[in-house]
Amino acid sequence: MFYKETNQIELKGSYDVVVVGGGMAGVAAAAAAAREGLHTLLIEKSVALGGLATLGHVVCYEPLDDGFGNQIIGGISEELMKRSIQYGYDNLPRLWKDKLKIIDDKKDDPETWEHFNPYEKILRCQTFFNMPAFVFALDEMMEEAGVDVMFDTLFCKPIMDGNAVKAVIVENKSGRYAYGAGMIVDASGDSDVLYCAGAKCSDFSNHLSYMAYDIDFDRMKEAIEHNNMFRAFPDWLMLGYNPITHEGKSKEYYGTNAESVNAFIKDSRKMAFEYLKEHMGPNYTQISICGMPNFRKTRRIEGMYTLSEADYHKRFEDSIGVTADWRCVGPVLEIPYRSLIDAKVTNVISAGRIIGSTGDAWELTRCIPQAALTGEAAGRAAAQAFKNKQTLQDINVSELQTSIVKNGGYLHQV
Ligand SMILES: Cc1cc2nc3c(=O)[nH]c(=O)nc-3n(C[C@H](O)[C@H](O)[C@H](O)COP(=O)(O)OP(=O)(O)OC[C@H]3O[C@@H](n4cnc5c(N)ncnc54)[C@H](O)[C@@H]3O)c2cc1C
Repeated sequence: MFYKETNQIELKGSYDVVVVGGGMAGVAAAAAAAREGLHTLLIEKSVALGGLATLGHVVCYEPLDDGFGNQIIGGISEELMKRSIQYGYDNLPRLWKDKLKIIDDKKDDPETWEHFNPYEKILRCQTFFNMPAFVFALDEMMEEAGVDVMFDTLFCKPIMDGNAVKAVIVENKSGRYAYGAGMIVDASGDSDVLYCAGAKCSDFSNHLSYMAYDIDFDRMKEAIEHNNMFRAFPDWLMLGYNPITHEGKSKEYYGTNAESVNAFIKDSRKMAFEYLKEHMGPNYTQISICGMPNFRKTRRIEGMYTLSEADYHKRFEDSIGVTADWRCVGPVLEIPYRSLIDAKVTNVISAGRIIGSTGDAWELTRCIPQAALTGEAAGRAAAQAFKNKQTLQDINVSELQTSIVKNGGYLHQV
């Protein structure tokens, strides 16, 4: 049985650029568009910015370098790394602090690096950060950039005008209404906008994962002894599936199906609770719960180009950024502009873990620095298309590349 819903939707306001989703990709996109002088709205369904990086407890900013000592990710992604540690602890190697010109009064503490990259004993440009401190820093960043942020607001549906989205219907405590949009960045992590607008997408399954934020006496003692808060939270506790070892496989869950999302939330929290029950005592506790299910991949676009392992070390003339592998030194991947856009939808661009990237290449493009990198490129592309009254398919990519490089980004591998 079906009910028919017929209601008038009020148009509450209009923006040059609307960004859906306030994770790392959305924050970078919104900052980029607003700094280009555009009237920008960021819609976030939860109550804090950062997405998986904060609410999902994924508190590790993966490397900005290629493993050979070269920085290959800059721009807003570099800025976000700096902001992630601005008001909290970190374990960014001194070597990289110097290269990134980060001045701090913390003493060099090389022992902490040892348990940092468990996969390879090299000093990469990566760091852990404190989750609440980063959330506050992101609020500050959006305020400085002049982005209007609407929390607790769910993107529900696009209103189409041919192959373009002319407005987005949202729902929040005030009810259901619409915002007009010149350009849209889909940074929802699930391709919600592009999927509803008719873009070609693919769905993926996940094994159970839960990042626990925990503390124990030994680490507290160590932190006090070394006068270094990082030692109290040196690592996260990753429960469930490990993408490096492929251990912890469970039944499969889907992030775009409500029943499956609910099962994932309940089962992953139960997994964390079991761990707590087993280890709790005077010595151990978990200090926060995940505010977002730890899905790694849900739904992504196919894109006008789908990146894969076959693209490692290839040069793309329309590259908007370059990334290496967080797991090892070796693979390097340029990200073509075409992997951010759908062939048909003319004014919605993807950013973050939903771009056209598959298999092992997706492991490289889905992480925090890359989400910010594609976010910035998407924000700049949207701004350019809006200003020039063009479709995303028609923009001059070399103009976009110039703007990326002018703002500290890198386009090609070293
Ligand atoms: C278990 C796990 C471990 C990981 N480990 C690492 C790691 O060590 N280092 C690393 O760099 N990366 C890691 N990652 C990957 C990384 O955290 C994410 O891929 C990255 O943060 C994704 O950013 P995003 O902005 O694309 O998406 P998300 O972080 O998913 O952000 C999407 C945002 O959109 C909002 N949203 C969704 N739908 C709507 C809607 N309809 N309306 C309004 N808002 C909406 C969400 O609330 C969220 O805030 C890990 C991921 C997982 C799951």
